[in-house]
Amino acid sequence: MSGAAPRKDPVAVEAEVREKIHLEILKRTGAYHANDHVLLPSGQHTSEYIEKTLVTTEPSFTEGLGGVIAKHFAQWPVDLVLSTGPGALILSHCVARAHPSRPTLVYGTKGVSAGKRRVTLPVEFQRFVRSGTKVLIVEDLVSSGTTVRLLSQLVESLGGQVVGIGALWRRTKKTEVDGKEIFSLVSRDFPTYASETCPLCKKGIPLNQEYVKRREHRKPSSAHEKA
Ligand SMILES: [Zn+2]
Repeated sequence: MSGAAPRKDPVAVEAEVREKIHLEILKRTGAYHANDHVLLPSGQHTSEYIEKTLVTTEPSFTEGLGGVIAKHFAQWPVDLVLSTGPGALILSHCVARAHPSRPTLVYGTKGVSAGKRRVTLPVEFQRFVRSGTKVLIVEDLVSSGTTVRLLSQLVESLGGQVVGIGALWRRTKKTEVDGKEIFSLVSRDFPTYASETCPLCKKGIPLNQEYVKRREHRKPSSAHEKA
């Protein structure tokens, strides 16, 4: 008997390989940093970091990744692709362009009213979402899922139907929002540590404070709030 390890499910292996390829692509844009020791705005430390603003800076990569999302949803008819935020909008253009239904592309605008986050559809776009309109939501990074939930509620309030949610990166463990599947190219969250218990601090690795400084520099912009 050889005592070989049990074979992994081939579908799971394929998904793992795909995720590695996508991570490598994001690394090449400079958006994804691994094997680092990073200070987060929360004061926690982590070894991996993603710079949201850099994710869609390489048009050919964005087109390739958008094409993968479009292919995943190709079996369903889509009338409209909806997103919000600059990075998501660049990606959503690539998804819409590659989807066989040739969907229209519109975007919502983010804001805060009465202390609550809101997404609204510019009035010129409102006629695109009617009763039965099939909508694919596209997001670059899904962290808490709030933005995609707001987009989904917006579609349903206008009578439309959400086909699904496509994203580059899902940090939340939730694989769906309000019963809609989130299809993401990378599904990964990073462990974070308090400075007192951080294993990277224990090893004496210098702490990278660059990202927190950049964020502070950009305040009070609301473009970098958690999506
Ligand atoms: Zn540390």
